[in-house]
Amino acid sequence: MTQKRVGVIGYPIEHSISPAIHNAAFKALGMDDWLYDKIAIPPDILKLGLRELRDHGYVGVNVTIPHKQAAMALVEPDETAQAVGALNTIDFRTNTGTNTDIQAFIDDLAAHGVDDLVDRKVLIIGAGGAARAAVYGLAKTGARIVVINRDSEKASKMLRDLGVMPAVAPDWEYAAQWLFAMRGKTPLIVNCTPVGMYPRGGECPWPDEAWFPHNLIVYDMIYRPAKTRLMWKAENTYGKAYNGLGMLVRQGAAAFKLWTGVEPPIDVMMQAAQEAVEQLA
Ligand code: NAP
Repeated sequence: MTQKRVGVIGYPIEHSISPAIHNAAFKALGMDDWLYDKIAIPPDILKLGLRELRDHGYVGVNVTIPHKQAAMALVEPDETAQAVGALNTIDFRTNTGTNTDIQAFIDDLAAHGVDDLVDRKVLIIGAGGAARAAVYGLAKTGARIVVINRDSEKASKMLRDLGVMPAVAPDWEYAAQWLFAMRGKTPLIVNCTPVGMYPRGGECPWPDEAWFPHNLIVYDMIYRPAKTRLMWKAENTYGKAYNGLGMLVRQGAAAFKLWTGVEPPIDVMMQAAQEAVEQLA
């Protein structure tokens, strides 16, 4: 039996729960010839690292921090990856890269019942790779997007790059008033920064001194801790909150489908992800 290998590359990578998610799926489907592992590749040897994996017969890899942008120059990025400027999945058989974060984010919102996005106000916090994926996905849905980032020029550039109407909140007061005023559908806040992530779970991207409107939906791309301070803020003000674990599972599931051609068992992968995160805690 020839082993078919896939994995995730990043640096550092030891806390990645992706192996648990994918290997649970392989096991559940009896795909004993497939194995998913984690591979630490320092940024200065990314090119060499990718070549080594390809030469050793890897089918493909997921790509995480800090390689999502740099890997773009080392494979053929598809239209989605090019639009966002970052990829998270490589298929060595075709030497192509794609970005499965976008659809994973939109699908996970829908799984939480946040599916009617036309004219819904969405505040994006951050302007890095995850924010780009979120804005790119949301822009196609007809959502009304405003971005806030500590570097507002970077936020403007992101919107220009993505061909989205520039709408950058200058401060938190502006952001709060915009979310509060003239509501139709319940507004959504998406945290696309690492602020509040383990081991700095005491932090919150929304400053304590700034007013936080009631009855909002928060989607925090962080999943460790399972409930961030931003999520608490929403729940304590009659709102709802979801973490990014479902998005992580869905972006992995899309890669699984690409590499294997097999329909991914989302429920099995979700369960494995939850157990893996609990073990980390
Ligand atoms: P990134 O490209 O490095 O961007 C990080 C963004 O956060 C930047 O806009 C940065 O601001 C901002 N930021 C960083 N530290 C900050 C601080 N102390 N205060 C205020 N803003 C800060 O990272 P990324 O790839 O977009 O990832 C962002 C987060 O999303 C990470 O926590 C990552 O784990 C998570 N993520 C989750 C999933 C999932 O599947 N759940 C997928 C992708 C990403 P500047 O622009 O001013 O530098």
